[in-house]
Amino acid sequence: MPAFCDVALPVPLDQTFTYAIDGVVPIVGARVLVPFSGQRLMGVVTRVHDDPLPEGIQTKPVQQVLDSAALLTDELMRLAAWIAQYYVAPLGEVLRGMLPLAAEVKRHFVYRIAEPGRKVLYAGAEKGSSRRSKLSPEDQDREYAVLNYLEDGAIAKAAALRSATQARKALLDGMVKKRWLIREAVAEERDARRLERIAVLVPKTRLPKLNANQTSLLAEIAAVGGRMRCAEIRHLDIPDSTLGTLVKRNLITIEEVAEDFFRSSTHPAGKKHTHEHALNEVQLEALSSLAISLHKNVFNTHLIYGITGSGKTAVYFAAMQRALDSGRSALLLVPEIGLTPAMSGQMYAAFGDSVALLHSQLTPDERAEQWHRIRRGEARVVVGTRSAVFAPVANLGLIIVDEEHDSSYKQEETPRYHGRDVAVMRAKFLEIPVVLGSATPSLESWSNAERGRYTLIEMLERVANRPLPAVELVDMRTEFQQTGHEQLFSRRLLEETQATLDRGEQAIILLNRRGYSFVVMCRSCGDKIQCENCSISMTFHKHLNEDESIAQPGERLQCHYCGFRRNVPKTCPTCQSEHLYYLGAGSQQGEERLQELFPNARIGRMDRDTVRGRMDMERLLARLHAGEINLLVGTQMIAKGHDIHGVTLVGVVGADFALGLPDFRAAERTFQLLTQVSGRAGRGELRGKVLVQTYHPDHYAIQLAANHDYPGFVAKELQYRRWMHYPPFAVLANVVVQSVKLEEAAAWSETLGKWFQRTTLDKVRVLGPAAAPISRLKRIYRFHFILKTEQRNTLSGTLRAMLAFADGCEIPRRNLIVDVDAVHLM
Ligand code: ADP
Ligand code: ZN
Ligand code: ZN
Repeated sequence: MPAFCDVALPVPLDQTFTYAIDGVVPIVGARVLVPFSGQRLMGVVTRVHDDPLPEGIQTKPVQQVLDSAALLTDELMRLAAWIAQYYVAPLGEVLRGMLPLAAEVKRHFVYRIAEPGRKVLYAGAEKGSSRRSKLSPEDQDREYAVLNYLEDGAIAKAAALRSATQARKALLDGMVKKRWLIREAVAEERDARRLERIAVLVPKTRLPKLNANQTSLLAEIAAVGGRMRCAEIRHLDIPDSTLGTLVKRNLITIEEVAEDFFRSSTHPAGKKHTHEHALNEVQLEALSSLAISLHKNVFNTHLIYGITGSGKTAVYFAAMQRALDSGRSALLLVPEIGLTPAMSGQMYAAFGDSVALLHSQLTPDERAEQWHRIRRGEARVVVGTRSAVFAPVANLGLIIVDEEHDSSYKQEETPRYHGRDVAVMRAKFLEIPVVLGSATPSLESWSNAERGRYTLIEMLERVANRPLPAVELVDMRTEFQQTGHEQLFSRRLLEETQATLDRGEQAIILLNRRGYSFVVMCRSCGDKIQCENCSISMTFHKHLNEDESIAQPGERLQCHYCGFRRNVPKTCPTCQSEHLYYLGAGSQQGEERLQELFPNARIGRMDRDTVRGRMDMERLLARLHAGEINLLVGTQMIAKGHDIHGVTLVGVVGADFALGLPDFRAAERTFQLLTQVSGRAGRGELRGKVLVQTYHPDHYAIQLAANHDYPGFVAKELQYRRWMHYPPFAVLANVVVQSVKLEEAAAWSETLGKWFQRTTLDKVRVLGPAAAPISRLKRIYRFHFILKTEQRNTLSGTLRAMLAFADGCEIPRRNLIVDVDAVHLM
């Protein structure tokens, strides 16, 4: 029997920990519970061995082995190791993200007696209650009762202990503080599946005599195919006891099955499902290229550059069907399911019960259940957001990443992996094809295609010969000169909106900030009202449905980063001037203005204030499809893959402010947003039109987006990236040094800065230390470095050396953020 196992724990330390095996030998990939600095933690076994321990090192035993079989396959263990290495992240934290099974391990607290407690118990038994104690005699009695209860060394659950002794939680806490008791968290496995009861008809050739209720219940169930959810039976107008009687008479049996999950219902009547279209020539060509890789069963990364409305989804579905036909499973990653509920609806329409959905709005229980369905091979088509890339899909044959350019694929907490890149790696380990698709591929993927690493598939026509919309730029500087005042909406946009509504068509307008005004500024001193916790301007949100003439004691200013809220102050916090004014219109103001301008329009708004959950989005989209809304205003949410055939006009208001942000990806983001939002126009029979209001009409990102010229844009942008040594011509990491104490953050970043200088780093450019663009966030001060180099190995080597140095200077690991391939440099 091997003596030790190494365990990866979810702690911010780049190492595994060795424990002694006590009884059951765990397998690699199984979960175990182990003691770790006074806690019990769940970790994953990475190695089982007999290696002699270093001199003077003692190990503690494993407390419990949770799985008899490996929960993570070799393939996923290997992927985890790659992520830990590539993103310089602790393996235990990577593994924690791969196992969505927290819900299966219920934590509760247990108490046992400690030596000092025993002494008190025996001393107290002689002396009776003590006058020196601050506690009432009753509480002292309860304390003794607790000690008595635990005297034999038993471990008691908190609930049992409290009901046996009448001791309150506070009293137990006090005893722990006095070290009379030891409190421990214990994890316990449980079955997380939610089951639902189904009534199933028992086939009978002849029915016995039945009463009217019994007959009608059997008829109801027979009418829906012989199976009905018990929950639904309760809604029928039949007494509850009837079901029980029929079960007793063996005419119905009850089955327990895993509960069904959300299925999108937004599918407009009369519109074909994606998989029902016969593929056109361009789609067939794309499919045949994928089919070759599928057939050969080799690793190959395909990049589908397909313009908006070219019918990429149908190609994905057909390729997934091919994978299923050859007995394998398929995985589809999407940016955010809640924002595009139509996608999951289409999936169910095409693949029925073999679909599993994984996304952030699932409860831990639901997540765990989906995970098991996938692992058992019941779900062979998996669709999910970023972390679904770790789904334990059995016999995976194809991975597809839709909208591969979307920045939500990058996880903004440890481990800071990029879902798209992990997908490519997973496909490589499995030797299967992977497909990345977008109308605006990331520069990284595009240049990989140019270098021949990825196979490029182009879909350059919209389905059914529909044309791309004509894009017109409205120069807001001229608009100002001609009208003499600053306007939110240009005359052209108002004109076109009116005409669109008059024709009975639909228009959408992008205003990419939420709230009413995104800056509140003092006219006297020029200061903006900032969040107390962050170096961020607070956004003004207007209270709806209130009498505006009365000042409301409401919370109207909001920080969109930390959620802090406060009233609009009467005077400027800096100079006490009373002249505060509001700048910058958000979507809430947009809606209000449009309502004034188009009183007869049926206006809807789509932003994070109106769409909080999946159902809000569904409702909004259903109203759009039905034409109940004919004018929609919203943030970039409206640019996501919605396919609404009645929309013929798209207006873009203030999408170019992003061009001024200190981020080398600003132009790329602006181009993507303009292209994606333009892509919402003219998807049906009627031709679409786009009006872009801009203060930078000559900027290449705006010009080329207006010409639908993605290849032209990438060519230009790649030149700039090469010149500036930015990705994809360099690999980059953002290192943030953070602390609640400004002096500490400053001193540490200086220490690291000197180290970077001293350690004559060959081939690594280090920018910084500098205050991060958001220099204070959630009360934490932030400095940062940007590291750029041409070699991947050089980058991770440097980062590791830096972490080792920081460790030596006692800079805590949690105060350093290492973000490899950072997407946001804020
Ligand atoms: P993309 O993702 O490339 O923007 P979609 O996959 O959303 O495009 O397809 C756009 C629209 O075209 C959808 O309404 C889809 O149902 C429809 N469609 C897809 N393939 C065909 C086809 N071969 N013929 C006609 N319509 C199609
Ligand atoms: Zn002021
Ligand atoms: Zn804040």
